[in-house]
Order: sequence, then C-alpha cells, then structure tokens
Amino acid sequence: MNQSDHIQRLKLIAPYKKEVFFALSIMLVTAVAQLALPKLVNYYVDGLAPATLFASFHLYTLLAIIVFSLLSAVRFYLFERLGIKVVSHFRLTIHKTLLHKTASYFDAINIAELASRINADTQMLKDALTTSAAQAIRATTITIGCIIMMFTLSTTLSLVLLFCIPTFIFATKLLSKKIEPLSEREQDALAKTNKIAFDNLNGHTLIKLYSWFGSSQNRYHNTTQSYITCAKRTISAIAVFQAFFNFLIFSSLIIMLILGSHLIKQNTLTIGELASYVLYLGMAFTSLNSLASFWAEWVHTLGATRYLFQLLDNDNDVEPLAQSKRRFIGDIRFRDVSFYYPNKPEKHIFEKLNIQIKQGQTTVISGPSGNGKSTLAKLLLGYYLPTNGEIMIGNHSLNKLSIACFRKTIAYVEQEPIMFSSSIIENLIPEATNTPTPDQMNRVISACKKANAHDFIEQLPDGYFTQICDRGNQLSGGQKQRIAIARAILHEPEVVILDEYTSALDIENQQVIEQAMHNLLVNKTVIIISHKQEHIANADNLILL
Ligand code: ADP
Ligand code: MG
Repeated sequence: MNQSDHIQRLKLIAPYKKEVFFALSIMLVTAVAQLALPKLVNYYVDGLAPATLFASFHLYTLLAIIVFSLLSAVRFYLFERLGIKVVSHFRLTIHKTLLHKTASYFDAINIAELASRINADTQMLKDALTTSAAQAIRATTITIGCIIMMFTLSTTLSLVLLFCIPTFIFATKLLSKKIEPLSEREQDALAKTNKIAFDNLNGHTLIKLYSWFGSSQNRYHNTTQSYITCAKRTISAIAVFQAFFNFLIFSSLIIMLILGSHLIKQNTLTIGELASYVLYLGMAFTSLNSLASFWAEWVHTLGATRYLFQLLDNDNDVEPLAQSKRRFIGDIRFRDVSFYYPNKPEKHIFEKLNIQIKQGQTTVISGPSGNGKSTLAKLLLGYYLPTNGEIMIGNHSLNKLSIACFRKTIAYVEQEPIMFSSSIIENLIPEATNTPTPDQMNRVISACKKANAHDFIEQLPDGYFTQICDRGNQLSGGQKQRIAIARAILHEPEVVILDEYTSALDIENQQVIEQAMHNLLVNKTVIIISHKQEHIANADNLILL
C-alpha cells in the first residue's frame, strides 16, 4: 500500500467537489451538535438547568434536537447519493475501457469473473468512499471534540488518554497491514466463484445430459470454500482487534471511574462533571472504534479494487478509434503474413502467407478444420495484427490506425452469430431504442426483407420489438443467421466475409439463406469460408489453406 493507492481512489470523488463540500459542512454541524449532549447532561445532573417543565431552556433544546435530526437525515441522503454517483461513474469508465480492449485481451480473461468484479469490487468502493468515509470524518471531529471537552473538564483524568490513544493508533496500523493482502485474495476468490457459477448455469443442458450435477456443484463448493477461508482470515484479524479495543475501553473506563470518585471526594470534581466526562469518554471511544473499522474497510477496499485500477491504468491492449471517415476499397493482399496468437506463441498459424483477394469478385477459402481460415478472417477484421508482414487494401497497408476505418467497409457473418439480450431491432441497429424513427424502421425492414428475415420476425409475439433472451437461445440457427445477414446489409459493406455460414443449417434453411445472401453480395468483394462444392464451383477464385 502506498500513497498513490489512496490518492488514486480519492480522485474518484474529485468531480463532485461541491457536493462533497456541502455534505461535509452539514456533517460538521451535526457532529458539533452531538458534542453538546454530554455537556447538557452535566447541566441537568448538577441542577444548572431550570427544573420547571415549561422553561424556554427546554424549548430551545427541543428545537435543537429537531434541527439535528433533520440535518442528520440530509447528511445521510447526500452521502448515499454521492456514493451512488461516484460508483456508477467508475463502473461506466471501466465498461468503456473494456469495450476498447483488443481481442487478445479477451482471450486472456474470463468474462464472468470480470462481471463479478465490476459489481462486487466497485460496491465496496462506494461504501468506503462515501458513507464510511463520512462517518470516519465525523468520528474524527467528534473524537477531537471529546478530547478537548475532557481536558477542559478534568486534566488529571485525561492523562489516562495519553496512554490509550497512541496504543490504539499502533493497533490500527498493525491491523491494516494484516488485512490488505488478505482482502485482495478474498476478492479474487469471490470472482472465481462467479466464474464457476456462470460456467455451470451456462452449460446447464450439458450437466443434465451427462448427469454432472454432483461434480458441478462440487466445483462451485470448492471455490466457495476457498472464499470462506480467505474471508475468515480477514474477519479473525478484525475480531482480535475488536477484543483488544474493548479491553482498552473498559479498563480505561474503570481507571477513570476510580480516579473520578477519588476527585469527587476531594471536592475537585462534581458528580455531573464525572457523568458528562464518562459520556465524552464513551463517545470518543465509539468514534475511535468507527474510525478503526473505517480504516480496516478502506484498506480492505484498496486490496479489493487493485485489479480494477490496474485495468484502468494499463493502456496496452487498446483498440484504436477510427481516425478518418475514408472508406478503403481495392484488392486485398496478404504480403508475407506470419501470425501466431499472442497467448500461444509456440504455434504459428501462418508463415509468410501470400494471397490476393480481388475487388468485386467472390473468393472461396477452403481447407481442413483448424488450418486458420477463421483466423484469416480475424486478421482481416483487425481483431489481431500480423506478427510479421502486412495486409494491403489497394495501396494502403492495414495498420493499427486504419483498422477502425477499414471496418466501416467490411461485414462478417459467422457460423454462430452473436446476439445481444435485447430487442431484435436493437440487435440490428443498437442506436435504435424502443422508439426507432420512421427512417430507422424503414431501413431495418428493407434490410430484413432482403435477408429473408422479415416474415419470421413479424410472426414473433412483439415483432421487431421482441426481446431476445439469453443471447438468442430461443431463435433457431437459421433465424440468427438471417438476423446477422440483415445486420451486414445495414452496414452497407464493400467486403463481406461469410464464415461457414450454412454449415449448421438444414437444406431448407440453407436455400433461404443463400437467397438472402444474393441480395447482400451484389457488386461486393466476397470472401466465403466453406467446403461446399457449389460455393467452390460458383466462385471466381479459390484459396486453399
Ligand atoms: P479454422 O477456422 O480453419 O477451422 P481457426 O482459424 O479457427 O481454424 O483456428 C486455427 C488455429 O488457431 C486452431 O489451432 C485454433 O486452436 C487456434 N486458435 C483459434 N482461435 C484462437 C485464439 N483466440 N487463441 C489461441 N488460439 C486460437
Ligand atoms: Mg473456422
């Protein structure tokens, strides 16, 4: 844990300076009001306050209590609201960063684990940064206030504090040192449990098919168990601290009571003063305790959110944005392209590959499974960059900067098209929400008609507004494929890549799709990855991998 860890997290509230200032001011007022309470006890016990019920003194007290209660409510509201804003903003930032990460970044992580982190880890940050931080600042104010009041009430009694407070600070430091690494491990373990749960739920049919219930449950059980082990270590550290803290409070209380009764006998202290002194002491210790819990929580959060901050800090693996609006058109050439996947450097997929794909013609790429046909498409789509050599579009080399531009002219229809869990219309044009403009609607319908998708979409319960659950599980392969073709048509591409697009379909479906394809492919550069004799026979060129 170093200074920048703290600052990095505190920076999250920087955009909300005004709100923080306002909330803190209200908090200070309530803290000071709270400090007046023991003094009030002093007044009443020692008979300094009026003894009649309807005195104006009582009325002011009541009024102060009402104001105090209202301000406390406002303070709570302000800090909670701030927390929600800060953490939502943080989540948005993470989401945005992740969207721009490269394909190889996603090869190396687990999505379910990451989703867990975005929720669970940021939630911790919310609590630590706002409500708990507010309580901590309030506790600090109250502690300092109490100590001042205690010294003014009795210096002799307060000397005991000179021993208590340093001991307390030392113990807190010890605790935080212990907790930080534990919490990083705890949060890792928690994310792993999510990964397993996601796996199991996603593969529920497989589990049913082979009756893998026991082993699947066991896998989840084991990760949960290691989470419990980690969490237990953290809480036992806190428990030991609590025990020590309680000992410190109560022993010093007894010492002060002994000393106090002695002072009362000597007439240097009144009973009311001792009562109010003890109340201040109680208040100071409660505040110190909440300070210590805050510190433990904060350190816990530092560890738990390290993963997310590293993710934000790391600007490798970032996809470039489109630099210009130009459209790349021309023949596609692979010049001495070598490639291996970053996570499998020992396995070369291509070595000095040279191919040419003519503009406006249909090229079929064929070859045994696992030979890199889909990889070739991924290189062309710029998901990965060649390890060596270059890909040319006309006279332009496809480099990191031009990829995003080139993508504007390219469409990709794959075997198992990706569907979002939203409405069909949003799957076609994400900028359309539940109320697309007439123009958007016309474009979509026209594309779907060309893709032979219009009829089946119309027959769905809510037509184009039918929600696709769980990434399209309830649509058939052919239906998803036709939606993917409509998506490609809407993109208005110059280059279309079709990756084994009919291999999973029955004959009838294949004919519907082929027909849809014809509408998409007129005058386009077409790359068909396929083994089909009819595709090969109809193509202008054939590339064997
Ligand atoms: P094809 O489409 O010709 O069947 P692919 O291009 O999908 O073959 O795969 C070629 C090789 O690359 C395979 O051995 C496969 O295991 C490997 N491969 C595919 N995707 C990845 C990836 N994301 N990371 C590492 N290796 C991969
Ligand atoms: Mg493939």
